[in-house]
Amino acid sequence: MSEIWQPLIANLAVVALFSSIWSLASDWLDKQRWIVRKLCIGVLVGSAAIGTMLLTVEIVPGVVYDLRTCVVAVGAFFSGPLVAVIAIVMAGTYRLLEGGAGVSLGIAHMAAAALVGLAVRASARSSLPNPLWIVFLALAMALLLLFIIFVLTRIVSLEEAGELILPGTVLSLLATLMMGLTMLAARQAGYDRSILRAALAQAPEFLYVKDVDGRFLTVNEAVARHQGYSDPAQMIGMTDFDVTDPARAQHLYEQERRIIESGTSVLDLEEEIVEKSGERRWYRTSKVPLTGKDGRIVGLAGMTVDITGVKQLERELIESRDRLSLAMSEMSDGLALFDRDGYLVFCNEQYRKAFPRSEHVRVVGAHIKDILLECARSGEQLGIPEDDIEGWAERVASLLRVPNVVTVELFNGSYLQLRNQLASNDSALVIVTDVTDLKLAERALIEANADLSRQASTDALTGLANRRVFDDALERDMARCGRAGTPLSLILLDVDRFKHYNDLHGHQAGDRCLVMVANALRASLLRPTDLAARYGGEEFAVILPDTDITGAEAVAERIRTAIAGAATSELGIEVTASLGVAEYDLAKGPSTPENLVRRADGALYSAKAAGRNRVMAAE
Ligand code: GH3
Ligand code: MG
Ligand code: MG
Repeated sequence: MSEIWQPLIANLAVVALFSSIWSLASDWLDKQRWIVRKLCIGVLVGSAAIGTMLLTVEIVPGVVYDLRTCVVAVGAFFSGPLVAVIAIVMAGTYRLLEGGAGVSLGIAHMAAAALVGLAVRASARSSLPNPLWIVFLALAMALLLLFIIFVLTRIVSLEEAGELILPGTVLSLLATLMMGLTMLAARQAGYDRSILRAALAQAPEFLYVKDVDGRFLTVNEAVARHQGYSDPAQMIGMTDFDVTDPARAQHLYEQERRIIESGTSVLDLEEEIVEKSGERRWYRTSKVPLTGKDGRIVGLAGMTVDITGVKQLERELIESRDRLSLAMSEMSDGLALFDRDGYLVFCNEQYRKAFPRSEHVRVVGAHIKDILLECARSGEQLGIPEDDIEGWAERVASLLRVPNVVTVELFNGSYLQLRNQLASNDSALVIVTDVTDLKLAERALIEANADLSRQASTDALTGLANRRVFDDALERDMARCGRAGTPLSLILLDVDRFKHYNDLHGHQAGDRCLVMVANALRASLLRPTDLAARYGGEEFAVILPDTDITGAEAVAERIRTAIAGAATSELGIEVTASLGVAEYDLAKGPSTPENLVRRADGALYSAKAAGRNRVMAAE
């Protein structure tokens, strides 16, 4: 029994030796050209196979067994057909030279093992390196061995072949697993290393490792390129004194000594550096001390990033912010920005100052509704319904993002125009303009307009309607009374001997007298539809709609008495007037305003002729 186990366990030792040589060499092999790598691995696998053949188990003279097939299968699995072919050629040649009964079976076994390795390789190709494939390969190899043992029973006795079953399969399994898993681990480590190395080498940042004396142990491609070298290896062993000006190199040396001596890192240090080309650029550097396994500091690792672009942007941003805030503070309008949920995100000082009583709540983060409530509660804004402040605030807040313009009046007499606009991000922009001056000017204009139209319709001295209004009213009232079938009467009044009055008391006293006459006239009229007007000079006219001649005579008489009475009591001078009355009644015949005036004038003339201070009616 031990005659089979012993050499096979020795075989396992050869396999282990081969695995460790291959895994140690794998880093070097990975860097070689494809063909060199394949040749080397092929020779290595072939040698390992021959190594196992030096320690074969001889089942019957000339028929031998060893673990060469496992070596070939693993070689084929990891490195492909070329390696398998080289190994088979080497081991097969050796086997041929050895001779014996099982030569062809032995070579066939190796070829079959290579095919198994290649088949599993093909199956595993698309998936990630996985130990399960190694287990699968080991099982396949064990099965292959059982098949070979079955074939062997044709050459040797069943008993002799059967002795190989247990040690053969166990050691075949073990050998394949051991080699496979070792190689898998080596390959994975190599893969990780190469990824890391590529990442470091190709990173756009400047990456470097230095020893305690400031010598570069490794630099990446970015550093080499920046310093004008084509290969990072050229910089290894150099110091900053070799690549930069002495002052800067000295500065860096001292900085790095401090890191190494104190063991503390320098993080995100920003510096502006004048390049060899004279260009100024900004860099951000971090350097950390590197600690060896024994805890001592063995050097430092550094990373430097060119942040010139970032700095430029930063500067532009600051400038544009400064410009913007200058514009904001210099503009006369108030400006506020509310986000889509109604919270104040920005406002200038003018905006806050425009609202003296709610200024303290108009701060970033405040909600529009709270601002409005404070505005209402403090009585800052006029015209807010006192019984429904909540509802008002709710309504106004809901209009925040609806473009609109409103003018509000504040407690202090100022007027603010609030313009709401929709800005980006669905936020609302509110522009506040003080329109107090505009409002006051507008009001003055309205008053001036009202004055003007009053002036256009009233007589400046007496305040009675003027001639223009009289003419319009007479035409309108005559038409209306004609339609209604009611009479209309007209009184014309002329102050008696007024020329003499002026001559005697002066023109200004004459004017005062006319005002007195007008007041007496006004006081004598009882109906709102009656209209007294200054007809011209010291002549007055009264239109009495819906009044017949008898009524008009009574009114005229009342006027005459009122003037005489007021003159004596107010002026202490006797003043009288003569009045002519005429009636228009469509039922008695059509007429025109001119005709009516002419008839009243005729009556007035008659009153004058009859001795003045009396009322006469037209026929
Ligand atoms: P009579 O009794 O015939 O009417 O005599 P009279 O002097 O009043 O004569 P008339 O009606 O022709 O006189 C008009 C005078 O009234 C002329 C002018 O001196 C005076 N008068 C007219 N308009 C004004 C006015 O606006 N102010 C003043 N102070 N006097 C006026
Ligand atoms: Mg007159
Ligand atoms: Mg007169």
